[in-house]
Amino acid sequence: MTDVTEPLLRVDRLVKHYPIVSGAVRKKQVGAIRAVDGVSFELHRGETLGLVGESGCGKSTLSQTLLRLVEPTAGHAFYRGQDIFAMSREELKAFRRKVQIVFQDPFESLNPRMTIGQIIAEPWAIHRGIVPRSGQRNRAAELLELVGLKAKHLDRYPEQFSGGQRQRIGVARAIALNPEIIICDEPVSALDVSVQAQVVNLLQDLQKELGLSYIFIAHDLGVVRHIADRVAVMYLGKIVEYGNESALFEEPRHPYTEALLSAVPVARFETARRERILLTGEVPSPANPPSGCRFHTRCRYAEDICRQQEPELSPRGVPGHDTACHLADKFEGTVLRYEDHQS
Ligand code: SF4
Repeated sequence: MTDVTEPLLRVDRLVKHYPIVSGAVRKKQVGAIRAVDGVSFELHRGETLGLVGESGCGKSTLSQTLLRLVEPTAGHAFYRGQDIFAMSREELKAFRRKVQIVFQDPFESLNPRMTIGQIIAEPWAIHRGIVPRSGQRNRAAELLELVGLKAKHLDRYPEQFSGGQRQRIGVARAIALNPEIIICDEPVSALDVSVQAQVVNLLQDLQKELGLSYIFIAHDLGVVRHIADRVAVMYLGKIVEYGNESALFEEPRHPYTEALLSAVPVARFETARRERILLTGEVPSPANPPSGCRFHTRCRYAEDICRQQEPELSPRGVPGHDTACHLADKFEGTVLRYEDHQS
């Protein structure tokens, strides 16, 4: 019997380090790029988890590791209770049918030599038996209409479509195998702002209609707010804040989340927001992250303890809203305030 309380996906202290090797003849590992460094979260049926952070924070490595496009260094991930990293070839094939991905760049992700009909039907050649050959054209036409395009587009080529339409085609291809989870890897970042909302609305409509779960990766918290039920903010390979959408947006407790939020245009919020917080300094290298709290080199609240001890991601008095910050319980209200801070 299926355990209804078991999340669709459970990620437990997942680590992905890329070794840094030196020496032309005698190769020796001299370090590691800590792309993902102990990440845990859950994804439930029909929900959207927003995964947010600057480029290089580990979001895309995380999704590649979950799909086993790269192997993990440590940790576990369970799909319906089954360990993804212990799956046999056959199990992995079935898993990959159930977990699809929509890529950032619709211009790059569609083969320019294939018609739209061929692109949508391609997954059915790998996963046989989903749609019989004789019915594939009709089914591809249905999928196109489901994403807001027309059956007459089946014989056209990707270059004949706009960026937003190509992303719709990418979505049609992703749902062709009746997945349960779609990893949306910055699906609207390459699109004009006016088109972004249309694609986000389409994803929300499909979620309701098909019962899909999404991991929605973005660097813009404003986009995530419209679609996510829960949000994980990542910095240098770690989740630094994790909670439901309203808690995280209305009562952020991590200074990095505060800075990301301050970059979202005021018009996107129901209430006026505070001043823009400009993060100074480069994002440190994941090959050599700072001691203590990884954010301390850019944090305007940093104290001695921040440079010495790494903060754990924990509820800090707010169940279901986890923060990795030594000073989180001093930040309260809808505006992140820290009374002792002298600016
Ligand atoms: Fe800033 Fe310290 Fe909190 Fe890190 S632990 S985010 S440096 S206040």
